Amino acid sequence: MVVVMRADATEADIEAVAERVRSYGGEAFVSRGTVHTIIGLVGDTERFQEIAWKQMSGVDHVIRVGKPYKMVARDLHPETTTVKVGTTPVGRERFTIIAGPCAVESEDQAMIATKAAKAAGATILRGDVYKPRTSPYSFQGLGERGLEILAECRRETGLPIIVEVVDVSQVPHVAEVADCIRIGTRNSQNFELLKEVGLANKPVMLKRGLAMTVEEWLQAAEYIAQRGNSEIILCERGIRTFEPSTRNTLDLAGMAAAQAETHLPVIVDPSHAVGKRHLVAPMARAALAAGADAVMIDVHHDPEHALCDGPQALLPEEMAALGEELGRLAEALGRPMNR
Ligand code: PEP
Ligand code: MN
Repeated sequence: MVVVMRADATEADIEAVAERVRSYGGEAFVSRGTVHTIIGLVGDTERFQEIAWKQMSGVDHVIRVGKPYKMVARDLHPETTTVKVGTTPVGRERFTIIAGPCAVESEDQAMIATKAAKAAGATILRGDVYKPRTSPYSFQGLGERGLEILAECRRETGLPIIVEVVDVSQVPHVAEVADCIRIGTRNSQNFELLKEVGLANKPVMLKRGLAMTVEEWLQAAEYIAQRGNSEIILCERGIRTFEPSTRNTLDLAGMAAAQAETHLPVIVDPSHAVGKRHLVAPMARAALAAGADAVMIDVHHDPEHALCDGPQALLPEEMAALGEELGRLAEALGRPMNR
């Protein structure tokens, strides 16, 4: 970390900064320029961040040299981590298809979607029982009954399940049943929830927030890792831009940038990114070609009557066709698939 002093900073100001660094167990290296004096800080950078530098007399600004995340950074952990969801390894070695209903609506609907996911080559089932809806009048999910249905879908097909939590109070019972807990885009900076899943004994999928930079996304992941849970999968699901022709703008470059920065697996949810059925397959193919570790796709047998996100859900036969296409593309790219 470097503290840049104002041109009019006095010797007493400079000494006060150096003294503050020493009081935090660090060392201060003062370098006097013709206009500005800069002070290099050596020591525990995380602790130095507690200091209100800009409020100190004579301080102009502070530059952080290191990254604001450590545990999830690739720097200290060059090889990519593989996170096991049930028996399915998610990582760079094999490409994974995750599919299932956006929301669990009934036993029949969830079972049809689960079987369609499995038939299409998915090795992880998605399905939600707590839905973070924009409108309070929209379907909010079946809650614990939905979890029982998902557990039944897993018994029937052997697919491990990923389920979203929207509140700290849901973490214990979702962690008990699900194979992976998901934090959705709207809660991706709910720091209390991040801390809570950091204590859970299950892998966590962390979606990118609607208006989150890649750096903020990795800092959110750091909250989870810092509490002791390093089984984290990142999921790019589109960000909000000025472009209204898709629900969100799929940021594949952000996905690749995240992969370069972190050792954690990074996957893509094209369904929530585009919001339109006919655009899901092209973006799923693009995600695989760009190096994503998995894709996560919404499936529904009767999208017109779906209680959540029908316009983006693939019909079972469309899911089957996409699974086949992804299999062929993966083979052409020399990327084995999880089967
Ligand atoms: C979902 O996957 O169903 C979901 C709610 O996604 P997001 O949090 O990305 O909007
Ligand atoms: Mn959805």
